[in-house]
Amino acid sequence: MEFRIDDDMREKLATVRHRGRTEARPKGLEADRLGRPIPVDDPYFSTLIERGEGRTRWPGPDGKRRDTGPASTRTTVMALLAAEEFAYWDRGVGVAQPGPGLPEGNVLSMGTEEQKERFLSRFLEPDRPRWACFGMTEPGCGSDAAAIQTTARKDGDGWILNGAKCFIGSASRADWILVQATLDPSRGREAHRAFFVEQGTPGLGGFKIEKKMGLKAYESTSFTLQDCRVPAANLLGGEERYQQRAGFKTAMRTFNAGRPVIAANAVGIGRAALDEALAFARENGLEKSERVRDRLERATRRLKLARLQCLKAGWLADAQKPNILEASMSKALAAEVGQEATQLGMELLGTVGGRGDHLIEKLYRDVKAMDIVEGTGQIQRVIMARHLVQLPR
Ligand SMILES: Cc1cc2nc3c(=O)[nH]c(=O)nc-3n(C[C@H](O)[C@H](O)[C@H](O)COP(=O)(O)OP(=O)(O)OC[C@H]3O[C@@H](n4cnc5c(N)ncnc54)[C@H](O)[C@@H]3O)c2cc1C
Repeated sequence: MEFRIDDDMREKLATVRHRGRTEARPKGLEADRLGRPIPVDDPYFSTLIERGEGRTRWPGPDGKRRDTGPASTRTTVMALLAAEEFAYWDRGVGVAQPGPGLPEGNVLSMGTEEQKERFLSRFLEPDRPRWACFGMTEPGCGSDAAAIQTTARKDGDGWILNGAKCFIGSASRADWILVQATLDPSRGREAHRAFFVEQGTPGLGGFKIEKKMGLKAYESTSFTLQDCRVPAANLLGGEERYQQRAGFKTAMRTFNAGRPVIAANAVGIGRAALDEALAFARENGLEKSERVRDRLERATRRLKLARLQCLKAGWLADAQKPNILEASMSKALAAEVGQEATQLGMELLGTVGGRGDHLIEKLYRDVKAMDIVEGTGQIQRVIMARHLVQLPR
């Protein structure tokens, strides 16, 4: 395994650190104080677009990549290090950033060339901040993603979607939503299909931004699909791509790629909490206590362990080797130690933490979602335990 950080990576991380300190941290604190997501027309997003961010990894119809720099064999490891560093400054602002986001991987791996052109080309050189999002979770269905109730019914040359989704990141501002639906709820995973639903499609509506305990910089939104008709061409991958269980596996592919990123985010938030806790301990003479030093050291050690687990999952992905077990391990461990670090910080703060205006208190609220999204801690443990005794996932 190679975790060496070369000069190019170091330079990129220095840029992330600088932007995190000067832009993301203040923006995140502001959103938290105001209790609302960063508005769509906030100049921050336009600045990112002018800087060349918020773009797709798709190389374009002519296959020529734009602004992506030299090809790297360590793309995932670099992405994880950057995800950790950005989350150190503000994870919510990181998620709020424009771009094709979570569903991009599905479109790249499963989408037809025509779909890439239709849905990703607008992210090649976006004229303004644009978002896309992935809608799986429903009011009655989260962990057991196979049990979704949103239905898709074939109707002539199109599909009719009916159902409700909740907690979907950036849904109300997204150009399109990749909606996971089922042809028949009684048939489980093999009946799952994913559909592109463009913003403004009749029947897509009822957007309601959820109230969240943390990560207020980005919107998590519920919406409904009522007799929402999309063209046949909006079925991800086209009908022929859907063999047995392929629909469900497509969605799960995103999660396997995403878990180490969430783990890296948790390490970043935990590190920030620990730095703040150390500073507070020094300012208040708490570091003189052997018990406090012991707890700070333990949290530091466990965060480093979680980072290594996370990088291993990334290294395997870069080497094109299966990483399902390591992805789950990294997510289960990092979310746990990230929460431990922020909790330790809160305990050291005492009444200062209770007032609710210290950064550690925000981090304490922010980190909880790392244990929930893309498979809760319990679900990761279910996956790992099944793997241990060689049961199918
Ligand atoms: C901030 C935030 C952002 C999100 N963003 C998105 C998004 O962009 N797109 C999207 O589709 N979803 C998103 N979600 C939803 C998220 O994926 C779900 O909340 C998650 O999958 C858990 O589902 P649930 O909340 O319905 O909990 P449930 O599935 O109802 O679980 C409740 C509790 O029971 C436990 N549990 C459930 N089943 C088992 C089992 N078999 N064994 C042991 N324990 C079990 C769980 O671990 C959990 O503790 C987001 C959620 C949050 C909080």
